[in-house]
Amino acid sequence: MFVNFTRKSLLAVFLSSMVFTAVAEDKKEDAKDEEKKKETLTEILEKKDAFEGFVDIYRDKKDGSGLVVFDESQLDTPFLYFVSTVDGAVAAGTFRGQFRGSRLIEFRRNYDRIEVVSKTPRFYFDPESAVSRAADANISEAILVSTKIEHEDEGKIAIDLSALFANEDLHRVAPMPSDNPQAEKRRFKPGKLSKDKTAISEVKNFPENTHVVVRYVYENSTPKVGGGAEISDARYTTLQVQHAFIKAPENNFQPRRDDARIGYFSQQFDDLTSDQTANYRDVINRWNLEKKDPSAEVSDPVEPIVWWIENTTPVEWRETIINATLAWNTSFEKAGISNAIQVKIQPDDAEWSADDVRYNVLRWTSSPRPPFGGYGPSISHPLTGQIIGSDIMLEYSFMKGRWIASEMFTDGYNALESSLHGDERMLCSLGHELNLGLMFGQYAGLADGMGKIEEDKLLRQSMSYLILHEVGHTLGLNHNMMASQLHGHDEAHDASITQGILAGSVMDYPSVNYAPVGKEQGDFYTEKPGPYDDWAILYGYSQALDDPEAEEKRLTAILNRSAEPELAFGNDADDMRSAGRHVDPRINIFDMSGEAVDYAQDRFELIKHMAGKLKDKTLVDGRSHNDLAVGVNVLFGEFARQASVVSRYIGGVYLNRAFVGQEGYTQPLTPVPESEQNKAMNTLMSFVFAPDAIEEMEPLFAYIQRQRRGFSGWGRDESPRLHDMLLGAQKNVLDHVLHPNVLIRLTDTTLYGNTFTAEKMMGRLTDAIFKADIKGDVNSYRRNLQVEYVDRLIAMSGLMKESKYDNFAQAASTYELGRVLDMVKKSRGNQATKIHKSFLRGKIQKAFYKG
Ligand SMILES: [Zn+2]
Repeated sequence: MFVNFTRKSLLAVFLSSMVFTAVAEDKKEDAKDEEKKKETLTEILEKKDAFEGFVDIYRDKKDGSGLVVFDESQLDTPFLYFVSTVDGAVAAGTFRGQFRGSRLIEFRRNYDRIEVVSKTPRFYFDPESAVSRAADANISEAILVSTKIEHEDEGKIAIDLSALFANEDLHRVAPMPSDNPQAEKRRFKPGKLSKDKTAISEVKNFPENTHVVVRYVYENSTPKVGGGAEISDARYTTLQVQHAFIKAPENNFQPRRDDARIGYFSQQFDDLTSDQTANYRDVINRWNLEKKDPSAEVSDPVEPIVWWIENTTPVEWRETIINATLAWNTSFEKAGISNAIQVKIQPDDAEWSADDVRYNVLRWTSSPRPPFGGYGPSISHPLTGQIIGSDIMLEYSFMKGRWIASEMFTDGYNALESSLHGDERMLCSLGHELNLGLMFGQYAGLADGMGKIEEDKLLRQSMSYLILHEVGHTLGLNHNMMASQLHGHDEAHDASITQGILAGSVMDYPSVNYAPVGKEQGDFYTEKPGPYDDWAILYGYSQALDDPEAEEKRLTAILNRSAEPELAFGNDADDMRSAGRHVDPRINIFDMSGEAVDYAQDRFELIKHMAGKLKDKTLVDGRSHNDLAVGVNVLFGEFARQASVVSRYIGGVYLNRAFVGQEGYTQPLTPVPESEQNKAMNTLMSFVFAPDAIEEMEPLFAYIQRQRRGFSGWGRDESPRLHDMLLGAQKNVLDHVLHPNVLIRLTDTTLYGNTFTAEKMMGRLTDAIFKADIKGDVNSYRRNLQVEYVDRLIAMSGLMKESKYDNFAQAASTYELGRVLDMVKKSRGNQATKIHKSFLRGKIQKAFYKG
C-alpha cells in the first residue's frame, strides 16, 4: 500500500471540508487516483520504455517523463557518481569531454522520501581508538537530493527521473562566479536554469553503469558580456552534461600509499587519531593491474588497460598515437607486467560513443576556441584511488599553425600567464605550450630551410610527446616540472646521447629542443618514457607482497632511490612559472637541460638569427603579411619565456625532498650558488635588458600586419605596440627579481649559505639597466625600461607611500635610487636623452624630498 497525494488532491481534501459544491468534482478526482493506485508498479512500468541496467530507468512514451527504479537492496550501498560534459561552451566554463568530478554517493530512505547522500569522506579514524566513536563530530554530510517516493512495490522503489536529474541538486553545472571582481565583470554569464527548457536528452543503461544525459538550458534576458561566436544567442546557453552512476568495483584492489618523493594524483585522508605531525593517509590513483601469473617475473595482466582511438582521429596520425600510447608498456615491463596497455581503433560504425564510461577513449575535437591541446583526466574511486576509467581529449588546433590566442603582440608574454590558471588536476595545458613550441620550431625551420624529414620529425615528436604525457596523466601521474634537467646543455642536442629520451619524465612542459645556430638537430621532444617514469610506474604498479610489513619495506626501498639525479621530481605546486612563486628554478616550465641558463643564451642567439631571416622567408608573392606578423609574435613569445626561465635562478633555492638517512641525502634547502645567480644576471643584462636586445627584429616592424577581415580590428588600431612588447617581457623579469618574496629570500638565505645578497643583486640590476648607455644617447626601449625601474625602486623604498617590502629591500632600493640620481645628473646625450634624464631626476628628487 502506498499513498500518492498529488498537490491537487491534497488541496481538494482541504477544501472539501468547507465547500460542499466542490465535493462532487473531488470525488471524481479521487476515483481516478484510486484507480491509479490499484495499478502495481510492474503494470505502470510495462507501459513505459524500459532502460534496464545498474539503476533501471523507465520513460513515458508520450511525454518523456520518467521513473528511476531501484531495488531496496541498493539502499545504503555506496556507488560512484561521475559527471562529464558531453557538449559545452568554453565561455560558459565547460567543454566536450570535460570530467567534472566524481564522488561516492548512496540512496537512503527517510520515511516516504529518498535522499541522495554524498559519501566521500576526508577523515580517517583508527577503529582501535576510542576517539573513533566521535568520528562524525563537526563533519557535515551533504544531502544532495531529497525526493518523494512515487511508487513502491515488491521491494522496488521508484522516484521521479526529473526530480533527480533535471536540476542542479546533484551537481552544479553553471560556472561559479569569479573571486576577482575584474574577471567577474568580464565573465560571460549564462543566467538562470530554465525549468521548461532543461530536459533529459538521453538515457543509456548497462549492467554496471547508468548514463543520463541532461540538456541544461540557461537564460539571461540581458547578457552584458557576449560568449563569442560559438554561442548562437547569448540569452540562451545550452550545456549537455552526462551523469553516470557506476557500480563500485568489487575486487581485491589494494590501495597504495602516497609519498612526498613521487608524483601521483591521490585521494587525501587526514588521520584524526594519529600523533604524527604529518598525519596523512593518502592513497595514489592507479589502475587495478594484476599479474595473471603472480609467480612469474614478468606476466601479462589479468585485465589490460584498453585504449580506444576515437573514429574522429585524423587517419594520418593514428600510427603515431598508437606507438606513443604503447610506449608506456616498456615502463610496465620493468615493473613486471607485460602488455599492460592495448590500443584498439573505434570502428566507424561502432554503436557506442566516447561518452560511454566503459571505454577509455583517445578523443579528437576541433573547437572554435580550444580550451587546451590535450587533456587526460581519469575517474577514480574516492576511497581506494582505483582508476575506473579515463579519456584523453585532443584538439586539432594543436597540430595546426593556427594562432590560438586572440590578442597579438603581447601574446608571447601573455602565454606565460595563460598557463597559470585552472585546476591542474583537471586541466593540462601542455597542448597549448606544445603548440607554442611547435610553432617556434616551424618558424625556426622556415628560417633555416628545414628539410621535409626534419619537419616530419618535429611534428611526430610533438604529437608523441603530447600523447605520452596525457596517457601518463591517465595512469595516475601528475606533472614533473623538474624532469627536463636530465641532460647537460650540450648533451641535450646530441641525438646519439639522448636517443629519444630528453628528460627524466614525459610529464614536464619542456622547451622545444631546437638546435642552436650552427649545431646539428637532435631530438625535438622526448619519444619514450624516461627513467623517472619507469621508477614511478614501478612504485605504483609493481605487484604487492602479501605480508604488510614486507610490502612496506619493499615500497620504502623503491622510494629511497629518489635522490638519484635522473629521478628528480617537482610538480606544479612547486614550479616557478609565475613571478615570485616558489623557490627552485629547476622546477619550471619552458626550460631545457640541467644548464637552463646556457641553454637560454643559445636560444636568444637563435631568435636573433631567425629574426634576420624572417622577412625573406615569409613574404611571398600574392600573400598578405599574416605569416610574418604571427612569426614575430612566435619569436617574441619565446624570447619572453626564456627571459622568465633565466630570471628564476636569481634568489633561488635548490630543494631536495630526500628523507633523512636515505642514499644521496643532503640538507633539503641549498641556495643557488653565487656563480649561477651571477650568470643569470649577466644573461638578462646581455639579452633582455641590453639596448640592442631586439635590434634584429627592427627591419620587421614596418611589416607587422595581420590580414584584414570584415570589420574586426582586434579591439585597437593597427600599429604594433613595439615598446609594450619588449617592456612586457622585461616587466615579467622585474616582477620576479623585485618580488617581495625573492628579496626577503635573498636576505634570509644568507643565513644558510647564500652569498649573492639582496644588496649585490640590486646593484647588479641597476648596472644592467643603466650602465651601457648612460654616458651617451639612451634609446627609446631603454628609456622605457629605466623609467619602469625607477618607479619600482621608489615604490619599494617606501619614500612616497608605505612599502610592502622588507627593511633590507627598502634600504637597498633607496641606495640604488641615489646611485641612479648620480648617473642621471649630467645632462649628456641627445635631446630625448636629456629630457629623459631630467624626468628621472625629478622623480627621484621628489621621492627623496617628498615633492
Ligand atoms: Zn599535463
